[in-house]
Amino acid sequence: MNSIQLSETPGASTTGTVRGAYLNGGWTPTSGGSTRIISCPADGRTVAEVAECTAADAQAAVASARTAFDEGVWPGTSEKERGQVLLRTADLLERDKAAYARAEALDTGKRYVEAEYDIDDVAACFRYYGGIAGTDAGRVIDTGVPGTISRVVHAPVGVCALITPWNYPLLQASWKVAPALLAGNTFVLKPSELTPSTSILLMDTLHEAGLPDGVANLVTGMGPEVGAVLSEDPRVDLVSFTGGLGTGKTIMRAAASTVKRVALELGGKNPNIVFADASRDAAIDNALTAVFLHSGQVCSAGTRLLVEESIHDEVVAELVRRAGAIRLGGPFDERAETGPLISAAHREKVHAYVQAGVAEGATLLCGGYIPRTGPLGVGNYYPPTILDGCRSGMQVVREESFGPVLTVETFTTEQEAVRLANDTVYGLAGAVWTSDASRAQRVAGGMRHGTVWINDYHPYVPQAEWGGFGQSGNGRELGLQGLAEYRETKHLWQNIDPKPSHWFEPAEAGEQQ
Ligand code: NAD
Repeated sequence: MNSIQLSETPGASTTGTVRGAYLNGGWTPTSGGSTRIISCPADGRTVAEVAECTAADAQAAVASARTAFDEGVWPGTSEKERGQVLLRTADLLERDKAAYARAEALDTGKRYVEAEYDIDDVAACFRYYGGIAGTDAGRVIDTGVPGTISRVVHAPVGVCALITPWNYPLLQASWKVAPALLAGNTFVLKPSELTPSTSILLMDTLHEAGLPDGVANLVTGMGPEVGAVLSEDPRVDLVSFTGGLGTGKTIMRAAASTVKRVALELGGKNPNIVFADASRDAAIDNALTAVFLHSGQVCSAGTRLLVEESIHDEVVAELVRRAGAIRLGGPFDERAETGPLISAAHREKVHAYVQAGVAEGATLLCGGYIPRTGPLGVGNYYPPTILDGCRSGMQVVREESFGPVLTVETFTTEQEAVRLANDTVYGLAGAVWTSDASRAQRVAGGMRHGTVWINDYHPYVPQAEWGGFGQSGNGRELGLQGLAEYRETKHLWQNIDPKPSHWFEPAEAGEQQ
């Protein structure tokens, strides 16, 4: 690991400096020469100094990926061999887990232990795709035509632009990088400008795992500058994007000019339905994790609690009691249960949503303020916040605040619960809590969301597809469909005994004028 040196002392400032874009298998000085300071959201300490790439650097990265695809060995390497590189990457991620987790925790402000779980999940993603290498070579078709061989095979899409957000920086990258590589593509990764450190580290890990030069490329910097180039450049065949709805629409428009494939993983306003017959302790406990994990900066956060009216008072009172006791703190604070928001600007946005909710008639039960003094006055902290008496027309119920904000609505019938759950432009994830197994299936079946948990919240496995209905996106990550995003389908037809078909009879001599 030589691109960015991170302090070995948990809690100490780090001094990593990366002045280049990663292309053609090495760190290349950027055209503009400017850098950006990455600071920890928990206390503002400097974490790293990272190159601020320009449009020209993005174009150079695309050129590197294009050459590696068109002239390099990777697309023609057997899938089994490509899988071996992924498995070695998983091993190296596990070997270097502490450095990765430290970098992720410092960039995002999340607890170190949560960052460790994330790196475990990153390694598991590489291991999953490495493990399925060579298990699907396509199909042989019985054409019904004697003397023919017909096969449907997979081919890589080409050069992939992979654009990722700041909330789970390396995890979101791994869901793209691992299947893209297994399928034989080359790529340019553009991490969030706020959290680039672990994506930078990944370049060296992939190199050490044996990935040929030019297959993996990375540019750091602003979305509208470098990200926009990636979605417009005609040499890019596919854009896979995870991030906000507005950015997703911009990317889709930009990609339309060259009819690129576009895979979008966007936001959510995820319902968490609690029926009166649910196991109360488990439902309440998980309702807290659903929304307040990583301070609500989770695309699948259960931000809309839909609770059966008869148990509303009891459930909400307990949620408020427990939310008020959640301990906030920095990555290495062992007492902390969750961390800060990513930036002061993001915290202002979250706070504005809460204020809008109150202005529209919601009742603020806890949180809802910006700590200005004391230990929490230093970082971008925002306390767990609960708004009661919400209705689906409210802005805070409709739009993603991406912060620790729970809105509470009530229902009286199963049909009403499903209607409220689906009353959103999004459709990423949701949950239903009930002890009635048939009701669980009916409600889960009616929910228009890509992942539905029954009596649980948040778990996922790399074998199962992840993605959204509606405006939560148009692609799937993980699982077999997450690999299919990075594959072209090609039909190979061979006639082993070619003969003239005589469709057009040859003209007799002298017949043709
Ligand atoms: P964002 O849309 O602001 O940025 C995401 C990435 O896009 C960043 O790398 C950014 O630099 C880049 N970008 C910005 N403008 C661009 C442009 N014009 N062209 C190309 N790239 C551009 O999102 P964010 O604030 O980083 O992340 C939070 C969002 O991500 C939330 O909406 C969350 O729900 C979503 N998210 C979704 C999933 C999922 O699986 N569906 C997972 C994690 C996060």
